[in-house]
Amino acid sequence: MSDGADHLAEVSGHIAEAARATGRSPADVTLVAVSKTHSADRVRELLDVGHRVFGENRVQEGEGKFPELKAAYPDLELHLIGPLQTNKARDAVALFDVIQSVDRDRLAAALVKEMEKLGRRPACYIQVNTGEEPQKAGILPKDLDAFVALCRDQYKLPVVGLMCIPPVDEEPALHFALLAKMAARNGLAKLSMGMSADYETAVRMGATHVRVGSALFGARPPLQPAP
Ligand SMILES: *Cc1c(COP(=O)(O)O)cnc(C)c1O
Repeated sequence: MSDGADHLAEVSGHIAEAARATGRSPADVTLVAVSKTHSADRVRELLDVGHRVFGENRVQEGEGKFPELKAAYPDLELHLIGPLQTNKARDAVALFDVIQSVDRDRLAAALVKEMEKLGRRPACYIQVNTGEEPQKAGILPKDLDAFVALCRDQYKLPVVGLMCIPPVDEEPALHFALLAKMAARNGLAKLSMGMSADYETAVRMGATHVRVGSALFGARPPLQPAP
C-alpha cells in the first residue's frame, strides 16, 4: 500500500471510533481529503483505494489538478474549502461539487447568477468566523441567521450546512459546539469542522464532514504567497 493509503486507513479508523463512541454511525461522517499543495499523483493513491471526496482551498490549484481526475472518476466529489473571490465564482461553480466558503452577500449573489448560467448547483456551506478573528474569512455569528435566510429564501442557494476553522490558540471543542448549535437553530444538517489536529473531537461533537490534509498526505511545504 502507498503511504497515502496507509494514512487513509488510519484516519478512517479514528473517525469510525469517534463516531461509535458517541452512538453515531461511521457512515454519517465524510472524510474530505485536503490535497492542496500535493500532486495529482498523491490524489490518485487515494482514488486507487476507493476514496472519492477531496478538498482544495484555491480555485486555480483545483483547476490544475482535478479536471482530468474528475473525467477518469465521475463519482469524485470536489469541495472548495478556501476563501472565494467573487470574480472566481464562475470557475468555482464550473469545477467544484461543493462550496464550503460562502460568507457574504456579494458572493452569494454571484454564485446564484453563475449557477443559473452554467446549470450546475454545487451544494453550499456557509463559513462562520466563530472566533471573530479580523483576518479570517467567514460571517460573524451574530449575522449568521439573517445571512442563512437571505441565501436560502431570497437567492435560493442550495445551502446544506455550516463550516468553521477555529482559532489556532483556542479550545476547538467550544467552536464546534457553537457551530453545531447554530446549524440546529437554522435547520441545517451538515457540519464541516475538524482538521488533522482535532477531527476526532469534531466527530464526537457532530461533524458530518472533516477536512483532513497533513494527517493523510504529510506536512505541506511552507505557504507560498498568493499569486
Ligand atoms: C488546509 C486546510 C485544512 C486541512 O488542514 P490540515 O491541518 O492539514 O488537516 C482544512 N480546512 C481548511 C479550510 C484548510 O485550508
